[in-house]
Amino acid sequence: MPRIAYVNGRYVAHADAFVHIEDRGYQFADGVYEVCEVARGFMVDMPRHLGRLNRSLAELSIDWPVTPGVLPIILREVVSRNHVADGLVYLQVTRGVASRDFVFPAGTKPSLVVTARKADPAAATRRAESGIKVITVPENRWDRVDIKSVGLLPNVLAKQKAKEAGAQEAWFIDADGTVKEGGSSNAWIITRDGVLVTRPAEHGILRGITRTTLFEVAAKLGLKIEERGFSVAEAKAAREVFISSATTIAMPIVAIDGAPVANGHPGSITLSLRHAFFDVAEKSPA
Ligand code: PLP
Repeated sequence: MPRIAYVNGRYVAHADAFVHIEDRGYQFADGVYEVCEVARGFMVDMPRHLGRLNRSLAELSIDWPVTPGVLPIILREVVSRNHVADGLVYLQVTRGVASRDFVFPAGTKPSLVVTARKADPAAATRRAESGIKVITVPENRWDRVDIKSVGLLPNVLAKQKAKEAGAQEAWFIDADGTVKEGGSSNAWIITRDGVLVTRPAEHGILRGITRTTLFEVAAKLGLKIEERGFSVAEAKAAREVFISSATTIAMPIVAIDGAPVANGHPGSITLSLRHAFFDVAEKSPA
């Protein structure tokens, strides 16, 4: 059965899903995106994802491609047409199609593409039970990474480097040695005293939706959170380390640049955050 995408008003098989060669997303990475997890037949934290989409669009002065109330209907339709009970739904909005010129074109209609795909929750659980590895790379991205833009080449290169090193994520490190975030995730440590630490999201990182919901999960579990920067050395000496994103939830990190974190096994606090996540997150029927 072919996968179905939504492309500018039509539901089409992937083989027939095309965008114009002068779409500004293609030529300038002039667009934004969101990835929303689908779990057990629900879209997870969709209102928060749509809120962040609204912010990303506003920061780049891109209009909504459809009225905001219609977008959840399209997302649900794509999830349903692809029979996704567990997986993800991806949406991308670009400034639209115009003859190539750097400045904003006048009167161009934004493009909207939505896809969905299945994922195996059992495989994710197995990954969490063994943990994953990160490497560190110098920060080389622009300073508006708070916008979820489709311009992700530094992230592509960093994650490729991680793969070649036998790791699954790369952390961008600031010039002062503090950890910013991963190529597609936020970074956390848990101190020897059991305090969760993650970098403030006012600037320099993407404010992850999973990160925001994990604040609520932590409160429910009676865990304290400090929003502050931490160094790679502090992370290597931490009790636990993990990353968060819509597709990984809270995923234990067991090695940083080849050095084991604690005893080299996933930590129990991270796993308890992971287990409690779905009960706390907002669930919209898919
Ligand atoms: N930081 C970056 C750079 C990301 O690309 C992502 C997700 O793709 C995140 C953080 C985590 O965000 P979320 O929890 O909304 O998936």
